[in-house]
Amino acid sequence: MNGLSYAIIGGGPSGLFAALFTALALREAELAGTVTVYERNRSCGRKILVTGGGQCNLTRDDSVEHMMAHYGKNGRFLSHAIHSFPPKRTMEFFEELGLPLLIRDDDKVFPASLKATEVVQILVQACLQMGVVFSNERRITGISRENSTFLLVSEHENPLRADAVAICTGGKSFPKTGSTGDGYRLAQQLGHTIVPVHPALSAVTTPSSSIGTCSGISVDPVTLMYTDKMGKRVYATGPILITHSGLSGPVVLNNSRDFATGDRIDVCWIPQTDRKKAPTRQEMENLILDACAKQGSAQLSTVVHKLGLPSKLLTYLMQEAAIDGTRKAAEVGRKTIAPLASLLVAHPFEISLEGAFGQAIVTAGGVDLTQVDPKTMQSRLVEGLFFAGEVLDIDGDTGGYNLQAAWSTGALAGTSMVAATHTRRAFTPLR
Ligand SMILES: Cc1cc2nc3c(=O)[nH]c(=O)nc-3n(C[C@H](O)[C@H](O)[C@H](O)COP(=O)(O)OP(=O)(O)OC[C@H]3O[C@@H](n4cnc5c(N)ncnc54)[C@H](O)[C@@H]3O)c2cc1C
Repeated sequence: MNGLSYAIIGGGPSGLFAALFTALALREAELAGTVTVYERNRSCGRKILVTGGGQCNLTRDDSVEHMMAHYGKNGRFLSHAIHSFPPKRTMEFFEELGLPLLIRDDDKVFPASLKATEVVQILVQACLQMGVVFSNERRITGISRENSTFLLVSEHENPLRADAVAICTGGKSFPKTGSTGDGYRLAQQLGHTIVPVHPALSAVTTPSSSIGTCSGISVDPVTLMYTDKMGKRVYATGPILITHSGLSGPVVLNNSRDFATGDRIDVCWIPQTDRKKAPTRQEMENLILDACAKQGSAQLSTVVHKLGLPSKLLTYLMQEAAIDGTRKAAEVGRKTIAPLASLLVAHPFEISLEGAFGQAIVTAGGVDLTQVDPKTMQSRLVEGLFFAGEVLDIDGDTGGYNLQAAWSTGALAGTSMVAATHTRRAFTPLR
């Protein structure tokens, strides 16, 4: 087929959508063109296969307005992309492709089969039907421009030529799926700035704490307290999971974009109704002392266990507070209780994210958004260069937000590539 050539680097969700929407836009405009996906792995969509525990939580049955609140401080950049291709459209689109969906009570959307493999298969099949060419096992290691043409360098190959390029190489997290940060280097080669990357939606380790002895325990909800990068005190409420090496669960994952190794976070184990305020240590002491007074003949540990937290966790906290739980409740005074009350309302942890890219769900940081047009996903620096997906400085909360960002930015990049190149040059019409 004659016409322009469109190169999509990376065959993950954003790349597959970019390819599909480039091909659809060409067909819509009755234009000729070649769309090629360059994927370093033997097959596309390896990260999709691990999403949602292999079930692929591909979006949410939610309004755009609600969605937008879940992408941190850079969420505004996504506004146009998500309005153009909202979750409802994602659902319709997959159903039109022949993938029945399941909407869970928590609004998470999955393929009805709960098989991520089907999502990959249906996308690859749709691309093939639209004439997209797959060049798998081809890792793009360099990119440059020669006049208005892009030259892509691939290992052991002559440079490949393209009239427009979409970098859809993902971030740096879960590198075994193929995302090792290549896209940042490619973007830099064309003059783009990379906002420093770090793991997000990540569990943290707590090297100086023995909380891992309570591994497997989850508490819902706790209040997480920390100071963010702007110096603002943050109070976040949600479920926490204790792991063998530290802390995980939604409240940790969704706030981890703000964490760095060496930071301190405090956990209030006592469920709160007011998110902005954990109880003070004194209030906690009063609560325990009141209970002790009422159940004076009981052992202190019996009284403490009535706080409603998991028994193993309370035993651990009492040990940490050096409290002898066998003492009679009536004999216990404020001084004895103080260290336990302190841990219950603000248990301090020094956290580490060392090695977290290996298991982080997404990458925070990436291609500087000020250099990308949010209305098209086109580079503001290099005409004909586009970005989509996690390579951008965007990361969402857990629960379908990240794949939605990949679909929306991929669709927008694909459509815009054709529109931009169409106005740039004369096309060869199909008929
Ligand atoms: C364990 C896990 C579970 C997740 N679960 C969910 C979930 O249920 N719902 C949700 O919304 N999000 C989930 N996510 C996040 C989501 O998978 C990602 O945000 C999304 O895959 C990003 O899409 P992408 O296309 O930008 O990048 P990727 O999916 O990382 O795809 C990038 C592709 O580019 C290829 N590539 C990289 N460099 C090159 C190169 N130089 N040349 C050629 N090809 C290259 C890679 O091999 C890869 O195939 C999960 C992530 C993980 C790790």
